[in-house]
Amino acid sequence: MYGVMPIPIPSEARRPNLIGLGRAALAAELAAFGAQPFRARQLWHWIYHRGATDFSAMTSLSKAFREELAAHYALSRPAVSRALTSIDGTRKWLLRFADGQEVETVYIPEEERGTLCVSSQVGCTLSCTFCHTGTQRLVRNLTAAEIVAQIMIARDALGEWPSPSNDRQVTNIVLMGMGEPLFNYDNVAEALKIVMDPEGLAISRRKITLSTAGVVPAIRRCGAEIGVNLAVSLHAVRDELRDRLVPLNRKYPIAELLDACRNYPGASNARRITFEYVMLKGVNDSPADARELVRLLAGIPAKVNLIPFNPWPGAPYECSSQATIAAFSDIVFAAGYSAPVRTPRGRDILAACGQLKSATVRLRKHELEPLSAA
Ligand code: SAH
Repeated sequence: MYGVMPIPIPSEARRPNLIGLGRAALAAELAAFGAQPFRARQLWHWIYHRGATDFSAMTSLSKAFREELAAHYALSRPAVSRALTSIDGTRKWLLRFADGQEVETVYIPEEERGTLCVSSQVGCTLSCTFCHTGTQRLVRNLTAAEIVAQIMIARDALGEWPSPSNDRQVTNIVLMGMGEPLFNYDNVAEALKIVMDPEGLAISRRKITLSTAGVVPAIRRCGAEIGVNLAVSLHAVRDELRDRLVPLNRKYPIAELLDACRNYPGASNARRITFEYVMLKGVNDSPADARELVRLLAGIPAKVNLIPFNPWPGAPYECSSQATIAAFSDIVFAAGYSAPVRTPRGRDILAACGQLKSATVRLRKHELEPLSAA
């Protein structure tokens, strides 16, 4: 008689969360719950197209079914522990997950597009010497649900439900927040499949860019299996220097990394690989560096993104001067590559690389240990 026994109702905290399940996982969950297959499609629509935060809003489902779902499942998003808006319109959310860990998500509105910068890990293991996140301890990978939730929270805050088909605010996603997305490949891939689903969040792979410090074996998989745009944090043109700036280079040196880029599935002149290059005064910013960069990129459908170094307290680098950056950009541009200088955004809300989270952690530490500064 097991078949007719009521399924025990879990306590609130232990109800499984339906947000973050992919299509197959959601279908399997609902099948185990005894619901018909079309119910999974209806729920998918409510969760990822309409952005429902409550089962009671799902008016195409019977009231009794909604109540049953609410008794057994959660639709929970992470808590927004801080939300800031810059004078330039950049918005930033510090999200807190159930275990208390936090990450940041940043929204950068521009004239022609709106880009959401999403995190893939809490902290980072790469220890790039110019990056503030590298000074924070890696705590853990984000789950697929926690990655997807960052986009859903942005849509909540921007009032952008149901998922619009045109005139969107969030047009582009970049995995350039905290963490190395290719060290959390499975969860990132699962999350992006949900994000790209045309009946859900519906953001096309052409509008998604994954940024990596160069985890060579995962680069090919990323191109073949998810097919998003690739950005590579190059930052140096000689192994000896890149070993110091991006220690992962000791494992996957420049030549191997560029080979993986040359063979990246889907790269073409219409879909170029972005090479990110942080401008560090007197370190990697000479005209000879720019000429070597151009030589290295030969044969790769590439564009270059020059990023003025964003200083943080105690950082061992300074940003190159405007004139040096302009001269560098001119050399790359003259060789036929677009080489825009990224404008710093949201400086007043510490929107760069791990800064808001660090400021918050510092503040809390200070509050907890008022005498330690003495
Ligand atoms: N781990 C991934 C994605 C996160 S970093 C990667 O390495 O690509 C996103 C970009 O910001 C990278 O290009 C990174 O090198 C750059 N970055 C990190 N700290 C910076 C700083 N202080 N100033 C300017 N750019 C920085």
